[in-house]
Amino acid sequence: ILIIAGIVAAWVTYLASLWFNHAQSMHSQIIQGIKRSEFVPFYQPIVDSRSKKVIGAEVLMRWQRQDGSLMPPNQFIPYAEANGLIVDMTKGLLSHVFNDVKQFATQREALFFSINIVPEHLDNDDLYQRLKGVIESGELKQHRISLEITERFPIGDLVAARKMLDQFYALGIDLKLDDAGTGYGGFSYVQHLGISTLKIDKMFVDTIGHEDNFNAKTIEAIISFAQKSNLTMIAEGVEDDKQVAYLSEQGVYFIQGYVYSKPLPAEQFFH
Ligand code: C2E
Ligand code: CA
Ligand code: CA
Ligand code: CA
Repeated sequence: ILIIAGIVAAWVTYLASLWFNHAQSMHSQIIQGIKRSEFVPFYQPIVDSRSKKVIGAEVLMRWQRQDGSLMPPNQFIPYAEANGLIVDMTKGLLSHVFNDVKQFATQREALFFSINIVPEHLDNDDLYQRLKGVIESGELKQHRISLEITERFPIGDLVAARKMLDQFYALGIDLKLDDAGTGYGGFSYVQHLGISTLKIDKMFVDTIGHEDNFNAKTIEAIISFAQKSNLTMIAEGVEDDKQVAYLSEQGVYFIQGYVYSKPLPAEQFFH
């Protein structure tokens, strides 16, 4: 028994060290990536299905590594969010976005660029000062910045968060609720945070055409809640015309999804 226990303990130690080394290297690689400005934006168009015009874009982070590879966010964002790295990564991401807008987006109709934030971004005024500087410098021209926050993360102090958000609102920056209906914070966030827009998650859009599914009832509930609360809606993960038709019947016209476009690198989005 002692021998077996010894072997088990050795294995547990070994596996823990593997995990620890993996985490260590992820951590230091991300820090190196931040220094090298490797966290870059892709832009996914958000389209008004009535006019087929692009009204804005969600900024989606990609890790452009020195070997030329492009890493999707599910492979590094959860780690970064859990380990206090995401705020610095967003900072670098924004520098790319402002450069792109300055370089490419001069002669266009007004667009909004929607940035994913986490509750930590509301803990101090770094992000606010950064955006204030850029907006006051006039570099964004006719374009606007928008923030999206997921309801999957708890916000400890809604009153303090609202105070910070009111400063953003004064700059003309609005707040969208991401992944609406998937978490638990939704109703209280809408009530307390001054949300302008609900982003209906792909999980619900996927049920369109499968009306026996429980989530199909949820999408109806989300839409009717949004309408009664005078919130704008954006449907996310829309992949086909049937979904577009259902959504527009329900009064949801702002569409983000492969049916119109995947997320694009700057040169392609601004072509
Ligand atoms: P999200 O904020 O819910 O973003 C929408 C995701 O759905 C994006 O995945 C987008 O590419 C994908 N998507 C959009 N339309 C379709 C469609 O029609 N079909 C399918 N199959 N997928 C579609 P992506 O770019 O891989 O990002 C995944 C998640 O990573 C995001 O989900 C967000 O939670 C996180 N993320 C990405 N960029 C950032 C960032 O800058 N900051 C933070 N904190 N999180 C980010
Ligand atoms: Ca988002
Ligand atoms: Ca989303
Ligand atoms: Ca989502």
